[in-house]
Amino acid sequence: MNHRPRKRFGQNFLHDTTVIQHIIDVIHPQEQDHIIEIGPGKGALTTPLLRHLQQLDVIEIDSDLVAALKASIGQDSRLIIHEADALKLNFETFGHSDLRIIGNLPYNISTPILFHLLSYRDCIKDMLFMLQKEVVDRICASSGNKQYGRLSIMLQCYCDVESLFVITPDAFTPSPKVDSAIVKLTPLREPRYELSDHESLKVIVREAFSQRRKTIRNALRKYLDESSIIESGIAPENRAENLEVADFVKLANHYHQQKINTL
Ligand code: SAM
Repeated sequence: MNHRPRKRFGQNFLHDTTVIQHIIDVIHPQEQDHIIEIGPGKGALTTPLLRHLQQLDVIEIDSDLVAALKASIGQDSRLIIHEADALKLNFETFGHSDLRIIGNLPYNISTPILFHLLSYRDCIKDMLFMLQKEVVDRICASSGNKQYGRLSIMLQCYCDVESLFVITPDAFTPSPKVDSAIVKLTPLREPRYELSDHESLKVIVREAFSQRRKTIRNALRKYLDESSIIESGIAPENRAENLEVADFVKLANHYHQQKINTL
């Protein structure tokens, strides 16, 4: 296929067959699985996946790659190709339970796509993604760690997260500048801690990390006063990076209650 990789679509194509097989092994596809691949590209994962499945949905934004995929494996009736932007797609249209989402995700949209998919977590059984290693480290980081932040808290609140293995740049064409890693995200049936309102958690986490060197007292000044922070059981002089996921949930619940009280 004569296709010039497009930077704006984060196109680094996997060519290393050992790495590809390792990824297929950890996906462990079963015939009846409903797998959706984001960004099939030239089909590096698509073709080996199809061997195991009765149906495979793929979502590709680049119309040239869609045309090439149709020409190469599109005649296989088990493959359903969606030419679309995965960021704008309603994943409920694929079904309401047990979706398995996989992909070698374009680096430039990895965070927005993770947040987008989080809103469909009730339909999803698991997700297995290749991302920049640095992003996987952030997803899996625990408090006190410098990679710990918004991505760690929001994903760990709703999913089990597991970093599986690292892939070096030479597995791709063109080679990216950084290492990649595979992460597995398994949505929990309920949030890890009792959370009253998702939007409140988003606000509190975003604000707490907007200036991560600030104390929680100062970072959340506009949202929660010092006494509310203390009532949540948290010392106001803490910094965001030292709070556990459970602490953010307590702060968010307090903030949500406060909003209700002022209605
Ligand atoms: N899966 C292939 C592989 O491993 O070789 C390609 C991976 S490449 C890193 C990312 C793929 O995602 C490209 O095919 C790109 O065109 C596609 N892509 C980028 N942005 C997208 C979006 N918003 N929605 C769907 N696909 C997208």
